[in-house]
Amino acid sequence: MAIQTSRPNSILILHNPGSRRGVEAHRFLEEKLSQEHPHLNLQWCQVLDTQETPECPERVIVMGGDGTIRLAMNWLTTHEMNIPVGLIPAGTGNNLAKGLGIPLDFESSSNLAIEGLGVRSIDTLDVTFDGRPIGKMLQIFSTGLPAMITHRFDRWRKTPLVSVPVRYCGDYFYRFLAMQALLTDRKRSFPSTIEIENEQFSSTGPAIFVGNEATIGGGFKPCPQALLDDGLLDICILPEISYFDAFHLFNQVSTGEHLDTHSNVVYRQARKIKLTQEPLPVLIDGDIAGSPEIVEIEVIPGDLSLISSKF
Ligand SMILES: [Mg+2]
Repeated sequence: MAIQTSRPNSILILHNPGSRRGVEAHRFLEEKLSQEHPHLNLQWCQVLDTQETPECPERVIVMGGDGTIRLAMNWLTTHEMNIPVGLIPAGTGNNLAKGLGIPLDFESSSNLAIEGLGVRSIDTLDVTFDGRPIGKMLQIFSTGLPAMITHRFDRWRKTPLVSVPVRYCGDYFYRFLAMQALLTDRKRSFPSTIEIENEQFSSTGPAIFVGNEATIGGGFKPCPQALLDDGLLDICILPEISYFDAFHLFNQVSTGEHLDTHSNVVYRQARKIKLTQEPLPVLIDGDIAGSPEIVEIEVIPGDLSLISSKF
């Protein structure tokens, strides 16, 4: 449920100059603000610059994709700013914006971010690797095959000549790599133990997902019941599968129907989880974030206030 806020007089814009669409969004917003909102007190800050300490504004606008939004959330925590945040999606997947129903074009999303008066509180997830805090995340953590597939996707995306078609195909190419990995990878079993409040599981399956929202890159829905504002994590542990079952499970996870059709899938909702695994790469909100042995994730209910409607 959204509550109402007031029209801001001062805005801090957090941007990421490393992203191509972020630079486009920057140009667009600069022009729009000077033409349509010359009265606003504006500050611009790079999301990777944690040293700069701007004055606390009445609103923050984050321009970028899912990775930039996560960086921005941690930037705000570092600077102890707990104020409404508007999003201008400027990434490749824009998973979070899609999940929140935020428009994907610059004109509509910037109008909402600047003038929107509805605020929705959503949960964030606090993550530690091997006992070391690594900050907050917003969407989906995964380990096992998804990290391997993303590693390959990133490599193709940075390869000269094919980088443009790979970026253009985006989700389709990611899904192709996922199918290829399921059918041909020899390492499809990732032993781990998972403690979920009072339960403990051992897994040798291809992937474990911990979700604050339903959808991951590529359009997969591993945590179909996840909600951003229910104060709970959704945990999905895929079972070890044969090559034949892999194709079926792949299709089911694409549509989020695997909970009904695969009785071996473990699905739980909880406030926190502890995972112990071989030190293999893991994904946080679509980015490879390290190779920890022990991962602990805890939900922080209603931690982020997002501008979500005009009221
Ligand atoms: Mg939730």
